Amino acid sequence: MQSSSHIPFLDLVTPHMELEEELVAVFRRALRTAGFIGGPMVEEFEHSFAEFCGSTHAVAVNSGTDALRFALMACGVKEGDVVVTVPHTFIATTEAISQAGALPEFVDIDERTYNISVEELARYLKEECTRHKNGKLISTRSNRYVTAIVPVHLYGQVADMDPILALAEEYGLTVIEDACQAHGAEYFSSKMNRWLKAGTIGRAAAFSFYPGKNLGACGEAGAVTTEDPAIAAKIRMLRDHGQAKKYFHDIEGYNGRLDAIQAGLLSVKLAHLAKWNEQRRKRAAEYNRLLAGNDEIILPFEPSWSRAVYHLYVVRVADRDGLMEHLKAAGIGTGIHYPVPLHLQRPYAELNYTRQDLPVASRIAEEIVSLPMFPQLKAEQQALVANEIQVFCKKVEAEQASLA
Ligand SMILES: *Cc1c(COP(=O)(O)O)cnc(C)c1O
Repeated sequence: MQSSSHIPFLDLVTPHMELEEELVAVFRRALRTAGFIGGPMVEEFEHSFAEFCGSTHAVAVNSGTDALRFALMACGVKEGDVVVTVPHTFIATTEAISQAGALPEFVDIDERTYNISVEELARYLKEECTRHKNGKLISTRSNRYVTAIVPVHLYGQVADMDPILALAEEYGLTVIEDACQAHGAEYFSSKMNRWLKAGTIGRAAAFSFYPGKNLGACGEAGAVTTEDPAIAAKIRMLRDHGQAKKYFHDIEGYNGRLDAIQAGLLSVKLAHLAKWNEQRRKRAAEYNRLLAGNDEIILPFEPSWSRAVYHLYVVRVADRDGLMEHLKAAGIGTGIHYPVPLHLQRPYAELNYTRQDLPVASRIAEEIVSLPMFPQLKAEQQALVANEIQVFCKKVEAEQASLA
């Protein structure tokens, strides 16, 4: 069956057309008040985003990358420290660590959730670190102090935070969430016996509002959430040239502010985020139903302690490139998040990690493919996608049978 209909990987036009009048009104408000940087639209957005997350403070900044860098700095990560994270993430995670002056070190991911492996984290802290006589933790790999862990809530699913927080406490480390893909995702903490939202679990958390994220600006934007007023105040300084009062600088900071137009646009879209996340969860359940029982494909795994918001719907298949080509020929868009894990990327060559050091992240990068996923995706479109996947898998099975 040849399908002529085009099913995009992501549709960023429809949601903006649906909200066009409200979004344009934001531009008018900014033009008429000339309030372009800071001001009430930024404060309104910070207030409503903190409320959405259930956090005490939200500080809006110019990107998710700077949100993470400022969060690390405000949490006390210093020049020369080691920050532990995963290799299976977008490079912004490690860029922020390096830009805060620290060195990233990698722990492998869990084969089922694709988030940081708690067993590997425990093993790293126990076997690849030693305690200095001053009590601080030292990485034997780099001979530097390990001070923080950055779990990444990848694809919209929160990492297994209870054991991560327990390990962090045992070893005296700070936990900063990379929640850039997880606006509204939830985690059931057995320890606290309640559901917690991404962004309220670590000491601080970074969010991105890059256009393609579950909550996206019409440009660049990000935010840090935290319960700690001192951290929030520090980030307000860092984003604004180190000043709490204009032209009186306590430290050297950055130009990391969010502009008012983006904040206003984000406030309009935030009102729809809970509904959009619910639609993503429905779409994910529909894919799960349509693709169930197909042995060639590994579907996303959502543990009972997780309510994921499916920023991406990622499956694994042996002949990933073959499947992508097949879907492309059928007019179906896909993506790979991400094709090369960070430990095998050029900027991190000098860290000397091999494929064998981080086997799960190394292997799954060759098998993952992200299927079309966005709130406005229709059930009929998903049926077409699933049908093309079944056609491809039958073809592969037939080829294997003829070889046998
Ligand atoms: C998008 C993203 C970032 C960076 O956000 P920007 O707003 O693009 O700077 C960081 N980490 C992860 C996991 C992301 O997906």
